[in-house]
This record gives sequence, C-alpha cells and structure tokens, in this order.
Amino acid sequence: SQRVKVKQILSADKTHYEVTVKGWVRSFRNNQFIALNDGSTNNNLQIVIAAENTDPALLKRITTGAAISATGEIIPSLGKGQKVELKASTLEILGDCDPEKYPLQLKNKPSLEYLREIAHLRFRTNTFGAIFRVRHTLAFAVHKFFNDRGFVYLHTPIITASDAEGAGEMFRVTSLDLKNPPLTPAGDIDFKEDFFGRSTNLTVSGQLEGELGAMAFGDIYTFGPTFRAENSNTARHLAEFWMIEPEMAFYELKDNMDLAEAFIKYVIGYALEHNREDLEFLAQRLIEEEKQKPQQERSEMGLVEKLEFVLNNEFMRLTYTDAIHILKDSKPNKNKKFQYLIEEWGADLQSEHERYLVEKHFKKPVILTDYPKAIKSFYMKQNEDGKTVKAMDILFPGIGEIVGGSQREENYDKLVARMEELHLPVEEMSWYLDTRRYGSCPHSGFGLGFERLVLFVTGMGNIRDVIPFPRTPKSAEF
Ligand code: ATP
Ligand code: MG
Ligand code: MG
Ligand code: MG
Repeated sequence: SQRVKVKQILSADKTHYEVTVKGWVRSFRNNQFIALNDGSTNNNLQIVIAAENTDPALLKRITTGAAISATGEIIPSLGKGQKVELKASTLEILGDCDPEKYPLQLKNKPSLEYLREIAHLRFRTNTFGAIFRVRHTLAFAVHKFFNDRGFVYLHTPIITASDAEGAGEMFRVTSLDLKNPPLTPAGDIDFKEDFFGRSTNLTVSGQLEGELGAMAFGDIYTFGPTFRAENSNTARHLAEFWMIEPEMAFYELKDNMDLAEAFIKYVIGYALEHNREDLEFLAQRLIEEEKQKPQQERSEMGLVEKLEFVLNNEFMRLTYTDAIHILKDSKPNKNKKFQYLIEEWGADLQSEHERYLVEKHFKKPVILTDYPKAIKSFYMKQNEDGKTVKAMDILFPGIGEIVGGSQREENYDKLVARMEELHLPVEEMSWYLDTRRYGSCPHSGFGLGFERLVLFVTGMGNIRDVIPFPRTPKSAEF
C-alpha cells in the first residue's frame, strides 16, 4: 500500500483501512508502542506491534531516531491522547540510530542554544518542526497574495555590480586568482577585474532592478536571498536573509502603506488558518518559557491572540517628526532598558526607540513616514518641505523594523540632482535612470525581511532560530 502522511491519518478519523507509514521513532514503550513522527505534524502516530510475534533482534533496533516503515490497519485507539492507531502487520527498520550516540536522545529537553550547535539535527525536534512548517506556510502565502493580485514574480540578480547605493555592507564576489591578482598602478589588487571586467558583489536588495520590472509589468515582487556583511551579532540580523520586495507603478505612499498592511495581515491570517496546529504548539512553548520569568515581565497575550490582535487592528500611522516628539516627551524607564538617546530632529531611530513606540506607547504595529532625507536613500521622493522624504518603515512589537519602503522619486532632474549631491555615480547608473527617461510615473515599493516576519509569527526570540541554515559570523559550516 501507498505511503500516507501521519497528519492525514490523524486528521481524518477514518478507521479500518490499510496503510504504510514511514518515519522516525520518537519513543518506544513496553516493547509494544512506537510513537512515530514523519515530519508532517508534531503529533505522533502510535504504532502497536504484537511483541510476542516479533523477533527480539528487531525489537532492539527500534530506538529513538531510527527510520522505520510500518504497514497495517488503522484502528480506533483505546489509549488516551489519540483517536486512532496503526496495528502493524509488518515492520521494517530502514536505518538504525545508536541510542548511545544520538545527540537528541542524550540531551533531555535540549536548549535552543544547544540546538543551534547541532543545527543539522534540530529539524527533528518538535519546536523546529513547527517553526519550519510555519515558515513554509508563510512563504506559500507570500506567493499566493501577490499571485492573486496579478503581480509578476520577478527574479532579480544575486551577483551584481550594483550596490543598491548603501542598503548594506556587501560581500564581494570575485573570480580573481587572489594568489596572482591583477594590480592597479598603485600596486593594490584591482578588484575592478572581479567579474570579467566588473567589480561585483552579492545583492543587498533587488529594489533597483525591481523598479525596472514595475515600469513594464506594473506590479512585480521579488522574494529571494539577500546578503549583508553584518557583523553585528544581533538577534535581528543575519548575513543571509530572504527579502520580499514588491514594486508598484502608479502607487503613491499611501497606496504603498495600504498594500504593506494588507499583505502582512493576509500572510498572518493565512498561517492562522492553514497552520493553526503548529502555531498552537509554539504558543504553548511560549507559555512554558514565560513561566520562567518574573510575573511583571510576562506578556499579557498568548501567541495566537497576539496574531489575531494584529489582524483585527489598524496599524498606527504617524510621521517621523511626530514620533520624535513622543520620544522626547517620554522618560527613560527606571531599570534603564530604554535609554533616551535622541536629542535632535534628524537622528536615525535605534531599535530601542522603535520598540518603545510600538510596545510602550501605541501598543500596536506602527508605520512611521516622512523621515529626514539625510538618513534615507537617494531614490526616495522628496517632500515639499525640502527636508523629508516619502519613506515608510513598519515597526512591530518585539522586532522593531520589519519593513522599509518609500515612494520613489520619479522626476529625472530631481533624482539626478540628489545623486550628484550625494556624489553617486550618475553615469554608471544610466540603466536605472532610464526608468525616469522613458515613461516615468509615480511608483512605490517596500522590502520586508522574511525572517523578521517568521520571528514575529512564531514568537521566537532569535532570528537564527527561524531560518533553516543561519549565516552569521559564527555559523557557515553547512
Ligand atoms: P535594520 O535597520 O534593522 O538594520 P535596514 O534598515 O538596514 O534594517 P532595509 O535596508 O530597510 O534594512 O531592508 C528592508 C528590510 O529587510 C528590513 O526592514 C528588515 O526587515 C530586513 N533586513 C534588513 N537587514 C537584515 C538582516 N541583516 N537580517 C535580516 N533581515 C534584515
Ligand atoms: Mg541595517
Ligand atoms: Mg533601518
Ligand atoms: Mg530600513
């Protein structure tokens, strides 16, 4: 008979039919009951074997972590905790797992830190099973949202000579033989020769290329790996992360904000609807974690309630200037967790400021708009005041910045003037300026860090725990 997923068996309630299941042993009790996990759900299928008919040599090999195949009838279960079970007529060990060596067997309740050290095995735990199934559901929802609205999924390049003008620190990509490199007249390595005559790096953002697509398809999005040589070791930054970057022609800043808010709500709602089981598991995990904290530090809302709250409430929208007033009026709290640092209008917000606004002041997601032009990129559309630009950042509780976006400057002369002011290479970026030369129009877009979204939805605290293979200064083995 065909292999059936455990999730399907458990959710059907159907009995008296024959199946084959394959997966990994989570536990084995009384020489009779196997809890089998196949990765489709954290709920295990109980397999009952008739011990008296089974070869003792085979029973010995049923250990935690071993891969097995079982065929038999699905019957109602008399035991507590499951409605159905599999009465095995045949059982086969596909891959042994030595209980003396298996790290997940040796450590009882392994910590997240320990699991990060054995990241190659952590998928096999319930916590990481839930996290990565939720991540999958969210990724699927991203494509569904845009596809349903007629956006074209445009793949922007990974290797590029464009540095997106300061979006982040770059990783150089070179084909040079560094043992015998070409040299400049001054004797330095001539990195201009990196990639057949161009200096190249890994992409820090697909936005500029995305704008080219928006000027032809109207609405596009990218969803791909993004690289920043962050050496900051924070719980919110990775060197390799996935960014979702929609870009829309004929959109002004307000349309952009409306889309971003609708998008975030859609994907969260999709996860609640299509993967409630794993979210409830993660919610329960958080409750256990919260119990370790002193009463006053525990959060008021559970994970599912927190997600539902975001779905059901409008995001707060205000300007950077208004936010600065609020921050200036606020007092640093007593235990100095929030040190008030902003003295002047014009300074960039630190994540503690962002979190103060979201978590303490408004207690909901916030969209900040109209930032000082000096702290934002050259391509943002300038406001009439001459000081601010049509930027928007979305700030989330527990995360800080989750989205950065703007309406783009569509006027060729204004854009070039700003580039010259910032000493940007106008000539080299002629390809980009063509969007403003030929049929320019108001357009907008944003970038959302996918892992920050997954962090929020899963309630995890460290970004390394929501990407399968984290790339940070400390981990790049596999
Ligand atoms: P931050 O201020 O947190 O460093 P940023 O302003 O440098 O972020 P943007 O260039 O605006 O980031 O990129 C758009 C989005 O990409 C951010 O809002 C964030 O969600 C995400 N992002 C940026 N850098 C990283 C990173 N190193 N790791 C994970 N996500 C990131
Ligand atoms: Mg940054
Ligand atoms: Mg930022
Ligand atoms: Mg930003």
